[in-house]
Amino acid sequence: MSAQDTPEVRRHMDRLAADGIDVVRVTYPDLIGTDRARDVLLDHLPSACEHGLAFCRAVYHTSPQGDVVPVPGGLDAGLPDIAVRPDLDAVHVLPWEPGVAWCLGDTTDPATGAPSPESPRDLLRAVLARCAEAGLRPVVGPELEYFLLDGAPGTPSGWRRYAQATTGVIYTAGLRADADNHLLRTLRQLRDLGIGVVTGNHEFDAGQFEINLTHSEAMDAADRAFLFKSAVKELARKEGKLATFMAKPFNDAGGSGFHLHFSGEDAQGRNVFGDPSGAFGLSDTGRHAIAGILAHAPALAALLNPTVNSYKRFGPGTLAPWLIDWGLDNRSAMVRIPPERGSGARLEVRLGDASANPYLAIAALSAAVLLGVREGQEPPAPLEGYGYDPRKSQMLPMSLPAALDALAADEALIEILGKDFTDSFLAYKRDELDRFNRHVTDWEFTEYSYHL
Ligand code: GLU
Ligand code: MG
Repeated sequence: MSAQDTPEVRRHMDRLAADGIDVVRVTYPDLIGTDRARDVLLDHLPSACEHGLAFCRAVYHTSPQGDVVPVPGGLDAGLPDIAVRPDLDAVHVLPWEPGVAWCLGDTTDPATGAPSPESPRDLLRAVLARCAEAGLRPVVGPELEYFLLDGAPGTPSGWRRYAQATTGVIYTAGLRADADNHLLRTLRQLRDLGIGVVTGNHEFDAGQFEINLTHSEAMDAADRAFLFKSAVKELARKEGKLATFMAKPFNDAGGSGFHLHFSGEDAQGRNVFGDPSGAFGLSDTGRHAIAGILAHAPALAALLNPTVNSYKRFGPGTLAPWLIDWGLDNRSAMVRIPPERGSGARLEVRLGDASANPYLAIAALSAAVLLGVREGQEPPAPLEGYGYDPRKSQMLPMSLPAALDALAADEALIEILGKDFTDSFLAYKRDELDRFNRHVTDWEFTEYSYHL
């Protein structure tokens, strides 16, 4: 019997076997929030728990196109391993894949046993520990939007928007916006996956959907948002479709947001953002949290809007933000305070887009809230009326390079996120920018080829 072939592992194996599971898919998020995984036959779970599954550390920073980006600890170190150990308390039976269960993995450097600096789950863990030291327990409710695409052989991308012909059937549910009942099937499968999915609807644009997850403690919410994105993509693939969480996939449609409902609770589980006697019905903590998010918004954009494409979602009249502002039940503001107070008092941070890595987005937001609370920062007056007036508030960074520069300059935020992590993230993203800047786009050809 191996060291990890313990009664505890046996108990999990017996439970899984009783559920008809013979494969455990151990999955962990890379730097951009994509799931990296390996299928482990159930009988080999004790060995995976004892030794960990070996993945090349550079997988964290291998681009979607297969570039191994030169980040410290990767190519320069000879492409060493990380060990990924199943977290057997985080197992979800896959309703659409008989015999398979998803299991989140935790990663360590086999040489030191320490988490690797790029590990998004460990980054969030570390930030939440800092919050806990200050008596703050972040609670998060994720809302994610995405586009669904059908295969379109012969077109340049090979895909076209699902329900392309649908116009004017927005913010609804049912067959008029979703002739193939994608949403119903997806909702039911996600319910059976057990990741706290609550509601769903067709979003503003044809082929765009939104599904809401219940709120919970920040790590649990990040785990569920991570699994949610993977699940929606898996389910679409099973039907020959593509679900994309990229920020703004089309010129003739709006973007996809990753709105995060954020509050804090005390050790007794009581909401600490509401206060009936405080200004706007918010507590000091609630106000300081808003101020921290506004103060660090340019740097937060790097983590909540992490792609070249992200910045095409921002703009006036988009329902995505453009300016660094907040408002009471105001959807044109970057931070909206929904009308509920008391145990439902919270901020709806509308900054993030759906392409963000849930762990990094929630870690960055928690760090900014912690800074605001620690320093007792006060927000300016809330936005009145419809926003998007650049005379009233500072503009968000309007490009990825500007956001990366803002992150690199935000020493207080870096102190909480850690310099090793931030350096890796910035190196990865600057490589992405270099590759983009060298690439000739369709727009350039259309704009220049004929007239010039
Ligand atoms: N799609 C918008 C965004 O990118 C949000 C629309 C809404 O309010 O639900 O943030
Ligand atoms: Mg929405």
